[in-house]
Amino acid sequence: MRAEALIDLSAIKFNVQHLKKTSGTNLLAVVKADAYGHGLIPVAQAALAAGADYLGVALLEEAITLREAGIDAPILAWLVQPGSDFTRAIELDIEIAVASLKALQEISDASTLKKARVHLEIDTGMSRGGFLSEWDQLTAAHCAAVDIVGVYSHFARADEPEEKQNQDQLERFNAMVKKVHSFGFPDVIRHLSNSAATLKSHSAAFDMVRTGISMYGLSPDVKTLGSSSSLGLRPAMQLRAALYLVKDVPAGTPVGYGATESTSADTRLGVVAMGYADGIPRIAHAAGVWIAGKRAPIIGRVSMDQFVVDLGAASTAQSGDWVTVFGNGSHGEYTADDWGAASQSINYEIVTRIGPRVPRIYAPHVY
Ligand SMILES: *Cc1c(COP(=O)(O)O)cnc(C)c1O
Repeated sequence: MRAEALIDLSAIKFNVQHLKKTSGTNLLAVVKADAYGHGLIPVAQAALAAGADYLGVALLEEAITLREAGIDAPILAWLVQPGSDFTRAIELDIEIAVASLKALQEISDASTLKKARVHLEIDTGMSRGGFLSEWDQLTAAHCAAVDIVGVYSHFARADEPEEKQNQDQLERFNAMVKKVHSFGFPDVIRHLSNSAATLKSHSAAFDMVRTGISMYGLSPDVKTLGSSSSLGLRPAMQLRAALYLVKDVPAGTPVGYGATESTSADTRLGVVAMGYADGIPRIAHAAGVWIAGKRAPIIGRVSMDQFVVDLGAASTAQSGDWVTVFGNGSHGEYTADDWGAASQSINYEIVTRIGPRVPRIYAPHVY
């Protein structure tokens, strides 16, 4: 095999149980975007087996894929625009988030044989999804043809727990929930917390939390919230690739497109069989791989299918060996956090962008 992402489903189960305990409420496992690159169906099944109460996805197509795999747990899809096939969603018992009167009208029209199960999304200050300017126009009559089963919002700055915007959003959420109660839906499921809020702000747990990144064992923000291990989480993904070629070069040898870097001493180079087509960020100069018990930094530009690392003159690495691109860091290897920092991005993007050419292998970590 050239490259593979090893996914430890027992780590995902552990994290789900840890997060359920921490939040003290119901848990919606966020499995959008192919479960943050970890694989939609296996992760959904593992999360449910560990006690997750709901699954959450962005797209209706993702929810349909879960149903077609035989998963009958409650599923919420929250990025479903007007014009979507609401009839199919209702047939498959997929709960839909609604953020506009137009979408609510279309869902109501589709609720002929069975009432749609709807979560009202409200904008409490992020200015992204959710009712805002239309909120004052929304009346009980608009909701008469559907079942309002949930009301939710999303934090903009939960990874900065001291920011006043969190408190402002919480207060607005409470006020907006009152309106939904007044429509005659007293048991509506209130949910507001993402991973960061679940880990740091228990006052926002309400009836359910929606955990994504933490379920995969990664910290929402290492700088403000601490590392994955300090949060009691276990990273579930290890990415590894084959060393395609090893070669000795003298000092001053230019490497890669544009000859942006040259070797500073006589050394041994390793060519790793992964590139930006596989999700390796082209700008990640400060990252590298773990091989033969040490870190080997990237040298030169990342190409589409390969990148070069400086193994060091004394390296015993050979072509055909595996290198660890990132792992949980326990042996000194680079982590998804390191790759995020090295590419002016975040761990979320690093794991989610791993491309379809990389098979996901479900196995305990091979450390
Ligand atoms: C992606 C997403 C989440 C999960 O956020 P994490 O920070 O990964 O926990 C929760 N809620 C909504 C609406 C989302 O889109």
